[in-house]
Amino acid sequence: MWAEFFEFFSGAALAYLITRIPFLTFPRVKSWNEQFPPHPEPIYVDGHLIQRVLHMRIFYWLALVFAIIPLTFGWVSLGHGSALFGFGLWTVAGWLVLSRVTAFIAGEEAPATKQMAMRLQNVKNISESEDSCCPFAQPMWEITSVRCKSCGKVLLNEPRPDLGRPRSDGWIMGFIRLLVSDGRPIMSSDEEE
Ligand SMILES: [Zn+2]
Repeated sequence: MWAEFFEFFSGAALAYLITRIPFLTFPRVKSWNEQFPPHPEPIYVDGHLIQRVLHMRIFYWLALVFAIIPLTFGWVSLGHGSALFGFGLWTVAGWLVLSRVTAFIAGEEAPATKQMAMRLQNVKNISESEDSCCPFAQPMWEITSVRCKSCGKVLLNEPRPDLGRPRSDGWIMGFIRLLVSDGRPIMSSDEEE
């Protein structure tokens, strides 16, 4: 009984990890984060940040492409190897594909979207124009909102999702937190990104 459970569970865990590879690993390379302050400090709203939001959006959707791996291995395993291991792979990868596609159809937002990048661009444009909040406007994306560093005005009421910076809470805790949240902002704790 425990052996069966273990087989199913390892398949499920493996599928979960594989589909999160793009989002967990690609953006966290050191050279990719040199233009940003270390996590969890506020990030200046500029072209780099807007580009990053668009990249995070790509990594989120790349999970669907990566889901092909456990689906294929699951299929092979169902026929020729351990059926339970294959079933575990299939369940999790299939659920990921289903839930992301249905969320997309239902209009639920991913942690990073093109609309989010456009809202940030808008904040940046206003802060550089005559309508800016103060003469030396410095929009910074803090944990819960975008705020001007000079005058403290809230410029955009939007919590910050995970932006791919290496986590300040360490490799293991950061990893677990990202696995659970999928990069969405968790508002329960102050230091959360
Ligand atoms: Zn200001």
